[in-house]
Amino acid sequence: MLEDKNQERTALEQLGEFGLIDHLTQNFAISRKSTLKGIGDDAAVLDFKDKKTIVTTDMLIEGVHFDLSYMPLKHLGYKAVMANLSDVYAMNATATQIAVSVAVSNRFPLEALEELYAGIALACQIFKIDLIGGDTTSSTTGMLISITALGEADEAEIVYRSGAKPNDLLVVSGDIGGAYMGLQVLEREKEVFKVNPNTQPDLSPYSYIVERQLKPEARKDIVELLKKLEVQPTAMIDVSDGLSSEILHLCKNSAVGCNLFEEKIPLDPTVISACEEFKMDSTLVALSGGEDYELLFTIDQKDFDKIKGNPNMTIIGHMTEESEGAHLVTRGNTKIPLTAQGWNSFGKE
Ligand code: ADP
Ligand code: MG
Repeated sequence: MLEDKNQERTALEQLGEFGLIDHLTQNFAISRKSTLKGIGDDAAVLDFKDKKTIVTTDMLIEGVHFDLSYMPLKHLGYKAVMANLSDVYAMNATATQIAVSVAVSNRFPLEALEELYAGIALACQIFKIDLIGGDTTSSTTGMLISITALGEADEAEIVYRSGAKPNDLLVVSGDIGGAYMGLQVLEREKEVFKVNPNTQPDLSPYSYIVERQLKPEARKDIVELLKKLEVQPTAMIDVSDGLSSEILHLCKNSAVGCNLFEEKIPLDPTVISACEEFKMDSTLVALSGGEDYELLFTIDQKDFDKIKGNPNMTIIGHMTEESEGAHLVTRGNTKIPLTAQGWNSFGKE
């Protein structure tokens, strides 16, 4: 529906595999000292000196993780990198390099891959990441993207999911639920478009949430802010699957319980109005939506003054003894056990 119908189409077989790789990667420069050898040999060579190395991988499959009828390829490239960097930042580390593997069918022309790589390039430029390699191959059906991100950190800086203690404060960056509601808007417009292909959707009232879905930003700034404030989180995770399941991961890995306060969950006004329009409960959307790529972390009570009133983060609860369990404390002051329902709670196909 957002597709440009008049675009040029250069068949991939015109370039061949090596020509294609050269073409797509020619404008990527190396900026990190730790990158000794990037693209162009059998493997990349990195040197992290006395730092620890962080490694994470994510795979995205067309029709499962993204829908190209409303996801522009440039945004897809950017978002695929963000999903990986978010995992590196969730370790309280600095992201430094990525390797990108793509499989495409002959349905995709060169111009489509150029768009994808334009998004990857933008992410690399903004987040100061080197593209150091990957793999390129064909697929019989759709597009598949697998990215591996690397990062570095001093051993003492690394934050695991396992360090939360009873009475630690539970904190989340930014606001929650926007990406999920943006997806609802895009899915609805896709259905409208199927019925009447001559309509162009007016998405302007939804620009914030649509952008949260199509162009999420990994929270490198939060990692830097916490360092500046001299706050070392006791445990941390990124919010990719909804608040509820991420909180339960922290609880399980740290062997603690939790009280999450419904009234504290940060929601953008656009999320609240979209929830009203779609007749969805905004708390459920925040708990079970996904893809917000915010950071969820716990801090010691002694650090309360350092983050108090900071507009970039919200205290949403506190950890308890494990035996107390993990609960949502509602606005009406009743306690409901937290369950990890993820996307399925909405009966998504
Ligand atoms: P090999 O046969 O050793 O796997 P390739 O011909 O696949 O080598 O790749 C050549 C170089 O290009 C390598 O440095 C590889 O990491 C890089 N490369 C291949 N595909 C991609 C891609 N999609 N994005 C970035 N770099 C790539
Ligand atoms: Mg290869």
